[in-house]
Amino acid sequence: MSNILEVKNLTTHYFTAEGPAEAAGDVSFSVRKGEMLGLIGESGCGKSTVASSILRLIEYPGNIVSGEVVLDGKDLVSAKEKELEKIRWKDISVIPQSAMNSLNPVYTIGDQIIESILLHEDVTKKVALERTKSLLELVGIDKDRWKSYPHEFSGGMKQRVAIAMALSCNPKLIISDESTTGLDVLTQAQVMALMKDLQKRLDLSIIMISHDLPLVTSVCDRIAIMYAGKIVEWASTDDIVNDSRHPYSQGLLNATPDLLNPDKEVSSIPGTVPNLVNLPSGCRFKERCQYAMNRCSEESPALLEVKKDHHVACFLEEGDYRE
Ligand code: SF4
Ligand code: MG
Repeated sequence: MSNILEVKNLTTHYFTAEGPAEAAGDVSFSVRKGEMLGLIGESGCGKSTVASSILRLIEYPGNIVSGEVVLDGKDLVSAKEKELEKIRWKDISVIPQSAMNSLNPVYTIGDQIIESILLHEDVTKKVALERTKSLLELVGIDKDRWKSYPHEFSGGMKQRVAIAMALSCNPKLIISDESTTGLDVLTQAQVMALMKDLQKRLDLSIIMISHDLPLVTSVCDRIAIMYAGKIVEWASTDDIVNDSRHPYSQGLLNATPDLLNPDKEVSSIPGTVPNLVNLPSGCRFKERCQYAMNRCSEESPALLEVKKDHHVACFLEEGDYRE
């Protein structure tokens, strides 16, 4: 399967009075065509920074310091702003954080989808309306509801509208940034099932950003786990669940209750996430890691492929350190 997106050694800083905060440090991963990739980590670990960097929407005082973001063969970090204007939304669309609150209350949902089509494509209003109706049906909403206003819809239906909107210009890649936050668990599961179904039927490529590990493992093909601005592990969902190698990934899994196994002992990871402005030398996880050794204070572990399609950034994977 070919890659639709390749993020290579991406580093993004926010410049603060106390010095630069490295919200994304040497981040590398890729998304295959037709794949749903989960990007997961605690709040503030850099997931949204990676998303904004992909779209080159990092705002002052932030800046992409180095790296490449290659979409279908084209580097977006070095692209001109005019080119990016065409790429955003048409080639990469976003289902925003708390998507259900992102609709404009004074326009019908149909008008909002039509508007987003007309803004990016040279088609007539009639064509845009027809496409809007099919998009609504695609996400499980009666096509005649295009005349409804957002307040006439439930949270889950507004979420479906946001998905229809993201699909409106046939993008190459969709980024969903914590988009189901705020929905109840049942509605969240239904929306996820819809996204999975659409991914398969339309061969969509999706980056699913979330702090919710069970949610991501239920729908994603591969998962990249971030900690303090770094990707610490990136593997198939099966490997993340059954063969995770990084101590932080293992900690996250241990901290997650298992509905199928109520006897499972749940334990949280001791300690707190380091300050991105004042990062410790060496491995950023060392202060919380039960396996930390001298080397972990001196060097930063690189993300290495430890077996096919399974990448880990931890010295334990470089030799037989672990008992
Ligand atoms: Fe722990 Fe060292 Fe591995 Fe970091 S590199 S996760 S501190 S063992
Ligand atoms: Mg975020």
